[in-house]
Amino acid sequence: MVDIAKFFLEFTVDESCGKCPPCRIGTRRMYEMLTKITEGRGEPGDIDKLERLAKNIKAASLCGLGQTAPNPVLSTIRYFRDEYEAHINEKRCPAGVCKALLCYTIDASKCTGCSLCARVCPVNAISGEIKKPFVIDQEKCIKCGACMEKCRFGAILHK
Ligand code: SF4
Ligand code: SF4
Ligand code: SF4
Repeated sequence: MVDIAKFFLEFTVDESCGKCPPCRIGTRRMYEMLTKITEGRGEPGDIDKLERLAKNIKAASLCGLGQTAPNPVLSTIRYFRDEYEAHINEKRCPAGVCKALLCYTIDASKCTGCSLCARVCPVNAISGEIKKPFVIDQEKCIKCGACMEKCRFGAILHK
């Protein structure tokens, strides 16, 4: 939901004609805050700041575009506040959408040690011995998801 709000904001930022500052600058600031949250850099208090800014933009914009631009942010906060909180407080994306917050791991109980994942990993982040559980080096992983697509045993998870 945070990513959906960001998607709508991106459209508004592009479409704003720039005549009035609340819309021109305010929507951009909201977009930057949402980007920060989806990249795991959210801080306590960001939700309140977003709400305050959204309400001010609605009240002070000259036309319908600015007056409605904050709606996706306000409604997602209203109905899916827990998702915002998970992103900010736990650095976790419950929907598994925000790439920067994903953590790929191998379930040792399912891994057959076939090595297919290691062969497709573009940064050599996966290692192991054939027929034994493989492991992912989190420092090297760039979260591309290639390993998960390749594994035929459902042994690779992200959270
Ligand atoms: S609210 Fe309307 S007039 Fe003001 S900057 Fe946005 S699009 Fe332009
Ligand atoms: S592709 Fe799947 S089963 Fe094969 S080594 Fe990788 S995680 Fe294990
Ligand atoms: S997500 Fe991509 S970079 Fe990370 S371990 Fe899997 S294949 Fe390698």
